[in-house]
Amino acid sequence: MFEYVEKIKNADLKNYSTFKIGGKGIILFPKSICELKKVIADCKKNGLDYFILGNGSNVLFPDYDLKITLISLKNFKKIKKNGDFLQVDAGVNMFFLNKYCLDNHLSGLEWSYGIPASFGGLVHMNGGAYGSCIGDFIKKVKVLKNGKVMWMDKDGLNFSYRASNIKGIILGAEICLKSEDKVKIEEKQRYFFECRKSTQPLEYPSAGSIFKRKGEIIPAKIIDELNLKGTRVGGAEISQKHAGFIINKDNAKAIDVLALISYIKRKTNLNLEEEIVVLR
Ligand SMILES: Cc1cc2nc3c(=O)[nH]c(=O)nc-3n(C[C@H](O)[C@H](O)[C@H](O)COP(=O)(O)OP(=O)(O)OC[C@H]3O[C@@H](n4cnc5c(N)ncnc54)[C@H](O)[C@@H]3O)c2cc1C
Repeated sequence: MFEYVEKIKNADLKNYSTFKIGGKGIILFPKSICELKKVIADCKKNGLDYFILGNGSNVLFPDYDLKITLISLKNFKKIKKNGDFLQVDAGVNMFFLNKYCLDNHLSGLEWSYGIPASFGGLVHMNGGAYGSCIGDFIKKVKVLKNGKVMWMDKDGLNFSYRASNIKGIILGAEICLKSEDKVKIEEKQRYFFECRKSTQPLEYPSAGSIFKRKGEIIPAKIIDELNLKGTRVGGAEISQKHAGFIINKDNAKAIDVLALISYIKRKTNLNLEEEIVVLR
């Protein structure tokens, strides 16, 4: 099966997650919408569960071999410019998109500089930082749903905190930015990246914030107030630098991270909800 598509059969999933945790699994890399449709159809025909993998910056893979078929859109990587509008494919890396914006004097996404995501993953999660989120810039989203490619207009889209109402596979989106002096864009990118470096444990593998904010409740603040920073299970540790992050300090296993998550939930007793996607 899947002989027609680029794939890695026994992929070391550690290398496909910013957490650097995981067993082995199969990853498919379709090169076109046509191939993607065929892959999905074949998964369905053969009763295989599949999962769309972006840059793996918000996922925790299990320690054992994954049964789910991973589908990466990394080959969907075109950016098309039309004035201040950009059509961006889902597989475009956010570092690359920010570089493209800088080179083309387009401002708006500087807040995202340093988020190790794919564009499609960021849209799916409505990723954001420093008071902005990707949903603010989206005009329409290209989706593959029930075997059909369709564009969803801003009117039909609902972006909320770290979530969107987009069902289906995001193939790309059109975003609206504004022309700006290159020097100013670079200054802003540098500023936001410095903010990240000074507050986030970028020197260790992680998946960003583990828990979603809950209304006014900021999990990192509560975890900090309970003096849980530095708490460790196996190789996983609540970051000393940012209490909202669990870091892979020393060859952590998924079970270490999950045990630490349970521990935090017990201690905080606030029914916190994970922001990361845990694959089992
Ligand atoms: C150091 C660090 C800092 C971070 N900082 C931030 C931050 O400031 N703000 C923030 O919001 N997040 C942040 N994150 C978390 C993470 O980068 C975001 O959640 C990001 O949106 C995930 O994108 P991804 O491409 O890595 O998706 P993945 O982690 O691969 O997948 C996440 C989810 O998106 C789905 N998905 C991915 N691509 C598609 C697609 N094309 N169509 C449909 N579904 C798709 C997946 O199925 C999965 O459910 C950070 C993470 C790290 C490690």
